[in-house]
This record gives sequence, C-alpha cells and structure tokens, in this order.
Amino acid sequence: MVDNGLPIHIGAALLGHLNIQTTRGYVAVFDDVVVRHYPEFLDRRRSQRPESEYRKPAEREWSEFSEHFDKRRGELGSCGRPYGTPCMHEHACIRCPMLSINPKMLPRLDELEEDLRARRERAVAEGWRGEIDGLDLTLTFLRSKREQAQRCQRAGLVSLGLPVIPHQKPQLADG
Ligand code: SF4
Repeated sequence: MVDNGLPIHIGAALLGHLNIQTTRGYVAVFDDVVVRHYPEFLDRRRSQRPESEYRKPAEREWSEFSEHFDKRRGELGSCGRPYGTPCMHEHACIRCPMLSINPKMLPRLDELEEDLRARRERAVAEGWRGEIDGLDLTLTFLRSKREQAQRCQRAGLVSLGLPVIPHQKPQLADG
C-alpha cells in the first residue's frame, strides 16, 4: 500500500503500529520516499478541505504563526510538533521524538551524559532505585538522539530550518 502511494502514517494506523518505525521496518521506506509522499498527502488533504480555509492570512494571524515557530528553538535543537499544538511532554525534550538535535550541540550532549552518569552513580550509592530507572531511560534517549544527529552530520544533511516567506511578505487580507 505504501509503495502505491498510501502515506506511511496511514499504513501504520491501519496496521495498528504505535511507532511508525515499525511500519518502516516492513516496507523498507527510505527518507526520500517519506519526503515525496508528504507533499502528495498535503495536496490530497487540501483538495478535500473547504476553500474558505485557504483565504489570505490577516496580519495578526501571520505574526502569531511566525512567533509560534520562534518558540520552537531550544538549547539542543528544534521541536517539530505540529503548528498550534501545545507541548504534551512537559518540555522533557531530550526524551521526546519531536526534538531534532542541532549537530553543533553534540558536545553539549556529552556534558549532559556525563552529568546523568554522575547522578546515576549517586543514585546507586544511595539506593534510589526509582531514580535509577528514570536516569537509565533518559540516557537511552540521549544516546539515541546522539546517534541520529551523528548520522545526519555524516550524511551531510542540512537543516531546513523554520518556514520563512521568500523575498517578500505575503499579500495580507484587510484587518
Ligand atoms: S518535549 Fe517534545 S514536543 Fe515538547 S517542546 Fe520538547 S521537543 Fe517539543
């Protein structure tokens, strides 16, 4: 289904996969396929939405949109959750799949890992078993994020950054 154009996240939902990576394992979906399918999905979705949703944005709406994305930049990278949605994970970014690490912050991950390991040693010495589980989980996420950022760095991938208006501001509606 995915090979024939079904967006992979729909395929994942149909198959009951909670994590899209599981679906990717079965269908060997490569990043370029995901990128190609996404605009196709957007085009189909737009064609089904009421035309009134595609009016020109008012100036106030445009400022709100830009400011929203300004707040996505954090110490370690940027947050990729959808526009207009609040953070559901209490800003525990290092554990969150929505965080894209900025490769230039890789040394900061090393510092954080060192700190987490020191805290773990203390927790072991003090017998804080609940703390140890939490720290182990955070360390697992941190290492996985580091590998992901290093892969991007090796592949020479370039961050696309946040949306900007090319050359000029959009034509705005009155008000
Ligand atoms: S926890 Fe996740 S969703 Fe929340 S701000 Fe951090 S990266 Fe974004």
